[in-house]
Amino acid sequence: MSSLRAEAVSLLQSLVQIESINPSTAPTGSGEQQVADFLATYCKEKGLAYELQPVKDGRSNFLTWLPGKDPSRRVLFVAHMDTVPVDKWESDPFSGEIRNGRVYGRGSCDDKGSLAAMIVAICNLGEQQPEATIVVAGSVDEEYRKAGARAIGLSGVRYEAAVVGECTDLELVVAHKGSVRWQVEVEGVPAHTSRPSLGVNAITGMAKVVLALDEYSKMLESRSHPLVGPPALTVSLIEGGIELATVPPSCRIWIDRRLTPGEHPQDALEEVESILETLRRKDQVKVHSLLPALEDPAPASAESSRIAAIAAKACADVAGTGKHVGAPYGTDASQLSLAGIPCIVLGPGSAAQAHTNEEFIQVSELTKAVEIYQKIMLSY
Ligand SMILES: [Zn+2]
Repeated sequence: MSSLRAEAVSLLQSLVQIESINPSTAPTGSGEQQVADFLATYCKEKGLAYELQPVKDGRSNFLTWLPGKDPSRRVLFVAHMDTVPVDKWESDPFSGEIRNGRVYGRGSCDDKGSLAAMIVAICNLGEQQPEATIVVAGSVDEEYRKAGARAIGLSGVRYEAAVVGECTDLELVVAHKGSVRWQVEVEGVPAHTSRPSLGVNAITGMAKVVLALDEYSKMLESRSHPLVGPPALTVSLIEGGIELATVPPSCRIWIDRRLTPGEHPQDALEEVESILETLRRKDQVKVHSLLPALEDPAPASAESSRIAAIAAKACADVAGTGKHVGAPYGTDASQLSLAGIPCIVLGPGSAAQAHTNEEFIQVSELTKAVEIYQKIMLSY
């Protein structure tokens, strides 16, 4: 195991040293291509086939695979190659240095730890041929719109199951929330504020909308899901009016609605639409929704799937983990699940470290993740 440990640490350090900030989260971000190219060289040297799948703007998913005894069956292991930006780090965020049994740096935990563990796992199965073909993918754009996972789901290649690597402390996430974000606009009529009765104040109209949505969000708390908790609605941004002496002709808000498994973005949109319809009818508020800017459904729960059962055993054997848990955040599983792929989320590192200014991963967890992934690869 110690050679796998050394290989996983060394690969993770190399990945952290390649800056791959998602350019949609910071304009100076380099994107994922250098990570994909690095992995291509790495896997080629190990004798594995690979492919770069163009997704958008010169950004490609990376895929490598090991044929199974039954080539018609495929299992996907996926971890994302992009990271969030860096801000106010005290040390070099791209050093990949080791201190106190931890690898430090942006992406060490989210999500290059999982990525390195999956790559080392597939590269070191040795003579053992898996039953199903094992595909390991590095995806682009998870931190923004999950375009990479969407491209994998739409590629026409069928997967029986997917293991999505994210920092779960090696626990087994079988359900997580989704989200839908969109704008609602109220139209008013401009007038001079010396004679406001000649106008219609869009901000006043929006106040009624916001209060009605607040009532609705309280009601959502009663719909708790056993693994992920209740859905939620937050009015997260507001802008309205044009200047100090004009009755505001327009006002817009952004809504962030978190979805629980089984809820679809369309369900949430329709519920809000019926609230808006009441306001139109009873209060004559001229209000409408704009098309959603983001739709990430909550994946179907994988609680009773075969992949969850196999992963639970692997987690228990290696790390004493593997109980079914839910997570409040989203992952690539949202998009993969749209293609009908049962997904679990499982990886080394703690979500408490993700996106922080001193991101790290425990080397001991990284090594256990390699073992767990190998067990899943060989038993599916
Ligand atoms: Zn992540």
